Amino acid sequence: MNKPAEFNPQVKLETVPVWINGKALAPAGRHGEVFNPATGRVTRKVVFSDAALVDAAVQAAAAAFPAWRDTPVLRRARVMQKFLQLLQAQQKELAKIITEEHGKTLDDAMGSVHRGIEVVEFACGIPQLLKGEHSENVGTQVDTHTLRQPVGVCTGITPFNFPVMVPLWMFPLAIACGNTFILKPSEKVPSASIRMAELFKQAGLPDGVLNVIHGDKAAVDALLSHEGIKAISFVGSTPIAKYIYETAAKAGKRVQALGGAKNHAVVLPDADLEFAADALIGAAYGSAGERCMAISAVVAVGAAGDPLVKLLENKAKQIKLGVDMGPLVTRQHRDKVASYIDIGVKEGARLVVDARQQQTPQEGFYLGTSLFDQVTPGMEIYRNEIFGPILIVLRAGTIDEAISIINKNPYANGTAIFTESGGAARRFQNEVQVGMVGINVPIPVPVAFYSFGGWKSSLFGDLHVHGTEAVRFYTRTKVVTTRWPHQDTPAPGFDMPTLG
Ligand code: NAD
Repeated sequence: MNKPAEFNPQVKLETVPVWINGKALAPAGRHGEVFNPATGRVTRKVVFSDAALVDAAVQAAAAAFPAWRDTPVLRRARVMQKFLQLLQAQQKELAKIITEEHGKTLDDAMGSVHRGIEVVEFACGIPQLLKGEHSENVGTQVDTHTLRQPVGVCTGITPFNFPVMVPLWMFPLAIACGNTFILKPSEKVPSASIRMAELFKQAGLPDGVLNVIHGDKAAVDALLSHEGIKAISFVGSTPIAKYIYETAAKAGKRVQALGGAKNHAVVLPDADLEFAADALIGAAYGSAGERCMAISAVVAVGAAGDPLVKLLENKAKQIKLGVDMGPLVTRQHRDKVASYIDIGVKEGARLVVDARQQQTPQEGFYLGTSLFDQVTPGMEIYRNEIFGPILIVLRAGTIDEAISIINKNPYANGTAIFTESGGAARRFQNEVQVGMVGINVPIPVPVAFYSFGGWKSSLFGDLHVHGTEAVRFYTRTKVVTTRWPHQDTPAPGFDMPTLG
């Protein structure tokens, strides 16, 4: 592989600018504050876009669209390959920005950037992915083929918890397909998107093909109502996902809106409990529980319950704040998560590990680990997505009961089963109504060449992100029926044509 080019970031991030038509802009107007969650201090400001700035981004993307759409797919793929190399070379720099603004540990941030880069690797194969279908002689001297064409200006609105990976689920594939794009990352973690836009420009992406705007509801609403935008990819919480889906669909846009989660892990009595407990600890408390695929509810079946809870208790108590687990993203979020400890106690769940008893650093938005046992489906700590380092355990008598609990939950993003029984695992994967299933794998995030998405209240829309479903989302098919007449061709008739 060629040595990647040096990257010298030019854009200053004291005030995180927007990126429109290949340029950083920081106009006066509304701004937000960006915190370092480990210190609790404001580190920079971020420009909040108003409708005029959103419109400028859409105009830039619309102007860039015809030439980018008509750029041969091999050339688009080469730009993607260069972007891939630059991202690989900058993985650590991007991870550092994530840690600074989100709070997750550097190793965890590195892993998340890696998973995002894998989507760019997949997008490099776009010439193969855009191949259509062709049938010869479907009627006398008639051939049929399909074209896969880009949809136009697309938008991505992303959450705070994966500042690099989730944007990379969206814009590389959309752009590889020939679309132009406007990214609206979470205003809590805006900087990494600007660095990625700079890298993509250096890779040879023409100005206007990728634009980044920032802001809150005002910016999102301006995107949703803008006539120039044809497709919206959203990842975030369920109430906002539903709002985005309904508003954008009503405005005639194509939408995929991924929402929140309550991911269950079922542990059967025949499982290797030590292995399962290790897996669950990482899946529940990694990234301080701020992952949409975090395991937040364990369903312990039969005799697995007591020994599993003991193992989880011991392991949860050993987690070191600031080393294994970072702070939560904001003070408000930390306080909201902490309030669920009181709620769970009031509801009568058994508090086995209590974050309130643990030492936390003086500064920053830290919260230790909590573990509840004897939780029942009616409790608020079960019904709500907590999105923090609180793991709850429900008890079930049988695998049927465990599956029934999961299938009654409105969320359906990911789930896992721990067992030594192939038969039980096979039944589970068949009967559970959840989009992504792990068998002895606690966080079954699919690799980039498969698609990611939940069911029920975890996804509004039809098509999942990345993999081949994303190629379908970011393209429209057109079917062309061709007849090249010569002397034997029958004359067109008056009746409904039958080609055979
Ligand atoms: P969020 O819904 O608060 O914000 C997501 C995006 O929507 C942000 O860009 C934000 O600026 C924007 N937004 C927020 N409120 C809005 C409003 N009222 N109107 C219009 N736009 C608005 O989510 P978050 O707190 O940033 O992220 C955490 C949530 O995301 C969790 O619920 C988590 O489960 C979910 N998530 C889901 C997935 C998935 O793949 N399903 C992946 C990551 C995160």
